[in-house]
Amino acid sequence: MARNNSPPALYRSPKANSTPKNVPLSQDEWILCLEVYLRHRGRLPKGNSREMHELSESMRRIRAALAGKPAEHFRPPYGVLRRVQEFQYLDRDPECADKKPKRACDVWNVWGEKPHATVAQIAEAIKKCIVAEEVQAVGDVHLEYNYHVVESQILTRVHTVRERNQRIVILKKEKFQDENKGRLFCEACDFDFANRYPRHGDGYIECHHIKPLSELRPGEETALDDLALLCSNCHRMVHYRRPWLDMRGLEQVLNRADAR
Ligand SMILES: [Zn+2]
Ligand SMILES: [Zn+2]
Repeated sequence: MARNNSPPALYRSPKANSTPKNVPLSQDEWILCLEVYLRHRGRLPKGNSREMHELSESMRRIRAALAGKPAEHFRPPYGVLRRVQEFQYLDRDPECADKKPKRACDVWNVWGEKPHATVAQIAEAIKKCIVAEEVQAVGDVHLEYNYHVVESQILTRVHTVRERNQRIVILKKEKFQDENKGRLFCEACDFDFANRYPRHGDGYIECHHIKPLSELRPGEETALDDLALLCSNCHRMVHYRRPWLDMRGLEQVLNRADAR
């Protein structure tokens, strides 16, 4: 009997050479292009330079992380240079924005005026996390947070996976209850699900990972102090706009409401 050595369908990697050439760049790819632009603002490297080869490779990895293995000549260095040049156009003539790709403009509007070091930090975190299994571990859950946000999809996924890690979430809730006479409530606004929805809401609270996206590194353990317990409203508000609110920012917003 002939043996079938091919792996079960589930484990087969997505077909190579199946990626159409002109797939629009993802948010993360534009962020990496902007980083290269800001690094070489005065004088861009050539299409065959080491920088463009590296950028091309990183963009292929992003594609692989978000959508499966890309075709062989996907995002070639010369093509990648043209994307970097989009930021040169935007930098020199803001008026040209309506002729440029929307995602490039969004990324430019958020980070174009920031120091290179700030963008480099985000780019570095993306490059480190591209390879992380955490990125592949969830589907498109990041969309939940991302309606109005210009943010790295890769880092958002890592963030989401970490705050949904059931083991650590249970430990966090237990610790919090130990310290608060068995109660669970929002650390920002004190909302208590068990109070508002008697019996039905017992034990419910959401977990938010407070580490800034640019500081996420692949494979690191989430510490209990990296998590904050929030009600659904506060958690949504944290993720509603870019940059995401930190706990202090959330507190200030809530104080503003109290002061009215
Ligand atoms: Zn709250
Ligand atoms: Zn969160």
